[in-house]
Amino acid sequence: MAPMKDQIKHKNIQFKEHPMLDSSPVFRMARQQMVKVAERSELEPGILDRLSVPKRSFIVAVPVRLDNGETQVFNGFRVQHHITSGPAKGGLRFHPAVDLGEVAALAMWMSWKCGLMNLPFGGGKGGVTVDPVKHSKRELERITRRYTEELLPMIGPRIDVMAPDVGTDEQTMAWIMDTYSMSIGHACPEIVTGKPVEIGGCVGRREATGRGVVYTIMCALKEMGIDPKQATAVVQGFGNVGSVACNELTQRGVKILAVSDRYGAIMNEEGLDIEALSKHVAANPTGLPDFPKGKKVDPQRMLEMKCTVLVPAALERVINAENAGNLQCKIIAEGANGPTTPEADDILDEKGIFIIPDILCNAGGVTVSYFEWVQDLQQLFWDESEVQKRLQRLMEDAYSRVRKLAKDRSFRNNRIAALTLGVEKVAREKDIRGLYP
Ligand code: NAD
Repeated sequence: MAPMKDQIKHKNIQFKEHPMLDSSPVFRMARQQMVKVAERSELEPGILDRLSVPKRSFIVAVPVRLDNGETQVFNGFRVQHHITSGPAKGGLRFHPAVDLGEVAALAMWMSWKCGLMNLPFGGGKGGVTVDPVKHSKRELERITRRYTEELLPMIGPRIDVMAPDVGTDEQTMAWIMDTYSMSIGHACPEIVTGKPVEIGGCVGRREATGRGVVYTIMCALKEMGIDPKQATAVVQGFGNVGSVACNELTQRGVKILAVSDRYGAIMNEEGLDIEALSKHVAANPTGLPDFPKGKKVDPQRMLEMKCTVLVPAALERVINAENAGNLQCKIIAEGANGPTTPEADDILDEKGIFIIPDILCNAGGVTVSYFEWVQDLQQLFWDESEVQKRLQRLMEDAYSRVRKLAKDRSFRNNRIAALTLGVEKVAREKDIRGLYP
């Protein structure tokens, strides 16, 4: 049977204006993506309306005594997009650009990601508007603990479970776990995921997102008949996701031509020595551009270098109408959340660039977070080979489902297919549960 054409079934879909979120370009982008799904589906308008807004949004003031004795008040946010399938699940971001709209968009994407991966979670996200590199470890601990304290009534292992994101790490999760556990009087490891293994973390969680990114890249290379040993990659961001992705790609023979972080970008046509670069950055956190075995390049130009795979693994909206036309990669593997704007999507479709969309590509993180939560609830822990085997199976299965739907319905790109699977799963659950009361 010939595949169904990519059909627009409903035109002029518009969601109700949201007084606090509509001014955010990232939230508008998340909604634009939802519209693309809604146009092509038979979802009930009432359910779509419910999904177009976050269920709960919290704004908290986080007053903290700095090391110099002064008090500074930070803005903190937590958004629970929906909790139909289980607790809200999603990262906590420390970054100077964090605002409610960004957090709400990231929470919505978490909903679709958990839906796509069939995980029993709703979407959540949190953030504090702070530049973590400008604060001491003691100040970051106080910010984390006070933020947690302010949110105590709204979080819980069956309500909302946080994990690391940009600017936060295993230590941040340990402070949250301790603050929450102290408040209830006993250890509660299942309140967060991505914590150190010593206190109930899952082996392989730290590497899970980057590894998942690379499992999906390997699927795409195979589908396109490209030998990984002949492939090259350019990676934006050298934090948790970017550095692990570089390492895993190198292990499979892919040459890393260029890497960037917030301090600059470097390249080496022979392939960067990722092990040496990791050691260099660990010793000099601001020193990536000075890596002796690399040549400095302009970070914007770096994105436009000729390569097989471009991996954005930093922030949102970095591939946009300005630069999409200049990209020379064959594949974009979205390690970051929301790195490509809808305008760029249209240009990339025209150019025939194959996108592995964020909610699929970086889903390894929340998948192993799910493994961690399950292990904590049962107090029964798996070994790393078990974790990796299960992760690889779920990532490859999700990749196949996305590609099958994209082909069956002749969708313009994989993003529409992935979002359709995610949105329809959540919508189905809402429909079956009905509307309370
Ligand atoms: P991180 O804080 O560990 O690393 C972020 C990296 O991006 C750093 O190297 C930073 O220097 C770099 N960066 C910041 N601004 C930049 C700029 N303008 N240009 C180039 N590089 C820049 O964060 P992370 O956990 O690796 O997250 C990266 C992305 O992956 C985010 O979009 C996040 O939401 C997404 N993500 C993370 C996880 C996870 O498990 N950590 C899971 C899914 C998705």
